[in-house]
Amino acid sequence: MGSSYTIGRIAGVDLKMHWTFLLLLAWVAYRDWTYGGPVAAAVGLAFVLAIFGCVVLHEFGHVLMARHFGITTRDVVLLPIGGVARLEYFPTKPRQELLIALAGPAVTLAVVAVLYVLLSVVGAGPMGVGSLMTFGRGFLANLLVVNVYILVFNLIPAFPMDGGRVLRAILASRMGFVRGTRTAATVGKGIAVLFGLYAMFGGPTTNWFLLMIALFVFTAASGEAASVEARARHDRYPPVNP
Ligand SMILES: [Zn+2]
Repeated sequence: MGSSYTIGRIAGVDLKMHWTFLLLLAWVAYRDWTYGGPVAAAVGLAFVLAIFGCVVLHEFGHVLMARHFGITTRDVVLLPIGGVARLEYFPTKPRQELLIALAGPAVTLAVVAVLYVLLSVVGAGPMGVGSLMTFGRGFLANLLVVNVYILVFNLIPAFPMDGGRVLRAILASRMGFVRGTRTAATVGKGIAVLFGLYAMFGGPTTNWFLLMIALFVFTAASGEAASVEARARHDRYPPVNP
């Protein structure tokens, strides 16, 4: 991935940071400094880094499950919108893809559970379902809320989210890899269109962030379908000199 810098190595896999991630850190520091001075800026930065710590844990759920099936990971890249574990390849065996796709959300669910228990112990009191989705109850509670959003967002059944791979794996086990991908991509595109419509007409003003995500999801779904179709054609007509 262009212009990424290696910032560490975990379990033998390079952890990289895309340069745009520095923009995010700079923006958060600037915003919080102007509101509340250096302490607020430090807390803001610590919060972003804590979120990305949780994202790294999520990605290594995928990495370690992939390794379990003998698939190595090139690197894990941190982007402002999240992390990407770049596996050497995605398995075409539905059961393996299903387990690799679910391993990340399973780790995030564990993070949510740990934070929930931690918050109950340090005295924030038991949290209702509503407060799991609302910000403003302090650092750890906010971190819990972010992880709930990460969990829900990743389970949306559209590429490139984990939910898209889960859906493809389930469909592929019934109708084969190519048809399963085609159907999963169509579902993903449908969801992207709904997101896009909601972003444009769901509120008083256009939600540009959601619209951007909708475009991103639509493109990813089309790309996944196209690459699998291309591979299928390639497999049917193998090159003369492989
Ligand atoms: Zn994931």
